[in-house]
Amino acid sequence: MGDFTDITFFGGANEVGRNCLLVEDGRANLLLDAGVKLGEKDEYPLISNDMVRRLHRIAISHTHLDHVGYLPHMYAKGCRAEVYSTKPTHDLTQLLLADYLRINRGMKFSNNDIIKAMKMWKMVEYGEVVGDKLKFSFHKSGHILGSSMVLIGGSSRLLFSSDVNDRETKLLDPGEKNLVAENLIIESTYGAPSDQLPTLKSASKMLCDSINRTIKKGGKVLIPSFAVGRAQEILFILESYMSSGVLEQVPIFVDGMILKANRIYRQNVIYARDEIQKRILMSDDDPFKSKFFHTPKTKDRSDVLKAGSAIIVSTSGMLTGGPVLHYLKKLAGDSNNLLILVGYQAEGTLGRKLLDGERRIMIDGREIELKMGVEQAHFSAHADYKGLLDIVRSMRKLKKVFVMHGEGEKPKKLGEAIQNMGYEVILPRNGESFRI
Ligand SMILES: [Zn+2]
Ligand SMILES: [Zn+2]
Repeated sequence: MGDFTDITFFGGANEVGRNCLLVEDGRANLLLDAGVKLGEKDEYPLISNDMVRRLHRIAISHTHLDHVGYLPHMYAKGCRAEVYSTKPTHDLTQLLLADYLRINRGMKFSNNDIIKAMKMWKMVEYGEVVGDKLKFSFHKSGHILGSSMVLIGGSSRLLFSSDVNDRETKLLDPGEKNLVAENLIIESTYGAPSDQLPTLKSASKMLCDSINRTIKKGGKVLIPSFAVGRAQEILFILESYMSSGVLEQVPIFVDGMILKANRIYRQNVIYARDEIQKRILMSDDDPFKSKFFHTPKTKDRSDVLKAGSAIIVSTSGMLTGGPVLHYLKKLAGDSNNLLILVGYQAEGTLGRKLLDGERRIMIDGREIELKMGVEQAHFSAHADYKGLLDIVRSMRKLKKVFVMHGEGEKPKKLGEAIQNMGYEVILPRNGESFRI
């Protein structure tokens, strides 16, 4: 690294969405993430077109739209930078961006721009050091398959946590700890002291109990899910509890983009936890091919709706579109059915409205009264308050911490706690630059 390093926050400061920041040291520059904020007025990061064309390299931490959705927009604007990520991130991004273009008409980029970005892609392994003047490497962050923290500078000067989980999940190892960096940029999605997330085991048990109760009544369970990450975790939990007999054996229908994401997860299973790899590679016990999983056979999903008690896992996760809305329309009127929200529900989405108690909803211009039950299961792909502080505590040589990727008071609350631990804390705003 040169004598100085500047960090500029183009998006993701004091918000969840459009993660995008630039690291430059006078000789080279590196963009960390290129995300969008869906359905919001502040949809795009504040990076100028001129800067987009001057980028040397881009590191993508993982395949969620708030970290990678802006990428094709940049290639439409003449970006020529090389893109770096792990292989699962590369593979999943191709799928996610195609879907992003398909469901958002009037986008300012074309499929050609996705291809341009994919052609500039360099896949790297965890721990491999890349870049010439500004060196960087990727480290497991435990959030979704292939997700990474990015460590920048030969002498380990800056760690970008991106979205991080310090706990093991059904599929993934926890995020790496004890990394060496003087500066840290950390997320704060669950950064308030009141953010205490249940263990995977207790969240799974609550999920199974709710499903069993519904099945006993003869109802159906509808689980909206993001296609990438959460869906695979939920499917593996259902599969394992069904195999062991804890969960009643009923068909699990999988619908929407989840099916394609599953295939990519399976092709990249060497990036999952050892136990999952062994099950798939060394025995015939492949959870992706479980006898409990089914796909709808008819276009109108009448086979699923006629199937009796069943579990349906479908996109989109916040009920903003996708086949899940079709199921919701059909299942809403029966109080024996149950909707279980398993992921984060952003302000303004139908999922959030249901969580807040709204029961008269509009789907395709028709008002529907929701009689089915609505519950929330607390699974998380993010570290909670205590987990985030554990990550900070585990680091070596740390001096300064930037807190981002959190809504409302979260960055401030987490920042206060980190300051009390004796570190210098900065709460950046979008558009601000800092020299470290
Ligand atoms: Zn994420
Ligand atoms: Zn995120």
